[in-house]
Amino acid sequence: MKQSILFTKTAKSISSEEKSINSQFLIRGGYIDKLMAGVYTFLPLGLKVFKKIENIIREEMNAIGGQEIIMPSLQPKENWQQTGRWNTMDDLYKLKDSQGQEFALGPTHEEIIVPLLKKFINSYKDLPVYVYQFQDKFRMELRSKSGILRGREFVMKDLYSFHSDEKDMDEYYNIVKKAYFNIFKRVGIGQETYLTFAAGGSFSKYSHEFQTVTPAGEDIIYICQKCNLGVNKEIKTETPSCPDCGAKDFKEEKAIEVGNIFKLKTKYSEPFNLKVKDQSGKEKEIFMGCYGIGLGRLMGTIVEVHHDSKGIIWPLAVSPFQIHLILLGNNEPLAKKGEELYNNLTKSGFEVLYDDRQESAGVKFNDSDLIGIPFRLILSEKTAESKQVEFKSRLKEKSQLIKQASLNSFLNEQIKL
Ligand SMILES: [Zn+2]
Repeated sequence: MKQSILFTKTAKSISSEEKSINSQFLIRGGYIDKLMAGVYTFLPLGLKVFKKIENIIREEMNAIGGQEIIMPSLQPKENWQQTGRWNTMDDLYKLKDSQGQEFALGPTHEEIIVPLLKKFINSYKDLPVYVYQFQDKFRMELRSKSGILRGREFVMKDLYSFHSDEKDMDEYYNIVKKAYFNIFKRVGIGQETYLTFAAGGSFSKYSHEFQTVTPAGEDIIYICQKCNLGVNKEIKTETPSCPDCGAKDFKEEKAIEVGNIFKLKTKYSEPFNLKVKDQSGKEKEIFMGCYGIGLGRLMGTIVEVHHDSKGIIWPLAVSPFQIHLILLGNNEPLAKKGEELYNNLTKSGFEVLYDDRQESAGVKFNDSDLIGIPFRLILSEKTAESKQVEFKSRLKEKSQLIKQASLNSFLNEQIKL
């Protein structure tokens, strides 16, 4: 993509209201735009990152048998009355149309998925089933201050699993745990992310959160120094020792919750009377699990973990482009060479953002640091003349000259690293 046609622009500074690093860099870099507190537009660069994250999650969900659907955001009041959550859920958006009919804007989808599955699941032979979606959620969030970490409208991946017994649910729960670790590793926050014990609610002793350690975190977690599992504040108050290994030595850290998984058991299958016939023809309740990841929050967390004072440093797997090609100099023969290099790189399959704008070197380098694409190529009068190009990694200070003839193999090596 040519930067000259990108309709968004970078900004030197933004409103002082934006306190969090993720929103400052993402707004200044032209990744997102704030409509109001907790509600954002994803701009072309931002959507590219978003889609890469989405695809990584999709691959991992498909690998554990997930079937993708999309459920509606606009939901009938009756479904929410059936589970009692119409009255008990504080952050539920409720609306009334001009006919006086009431609806919920879905903050989660148990109330929709359970009646949906009831139409298709009759026998134990139809189980297990794993269904997921990427979908807009709405939550009346009073603390919408942390950029895209905490939205009032946000896209979430939610997976729901349905099982004929508790053992099958437990086994699948562990499979999802592994898939979640794969996701966090692939998007570049594997090292900072801890499986953390959280309260299970009325239906289960524990649930689990995936918590990413960063100074921007709104949560406090305690990491067991023996087994490396986390414990959240609520659990730490209840149990002074590690629920997994029993050790008592913890390290306190600030963290962002990037995912959560629950054993719902029969909490939602019961109110909708979702049952199957077992082998002997007897009716049995269905066991459920639910597993969430907020995509905007994950994107914001990646920025909180990977940045410096100049801007974002994207992990390659989620970067909007792999290479930022920068042309320095304004004459026509050089511009032609830049165009050729850009075309060759894109034809070879590299994802390239080409800064072909008529701007100074200073402006281009500052923008490039802010946007944070991991690899940078600089074509100038001097490098073009010697049939070379300057290569610089966003993570390193030093650059190196690469012969254009061997550029493709050099870049392939860098990208494989
Ligand atoms: Zn432990």
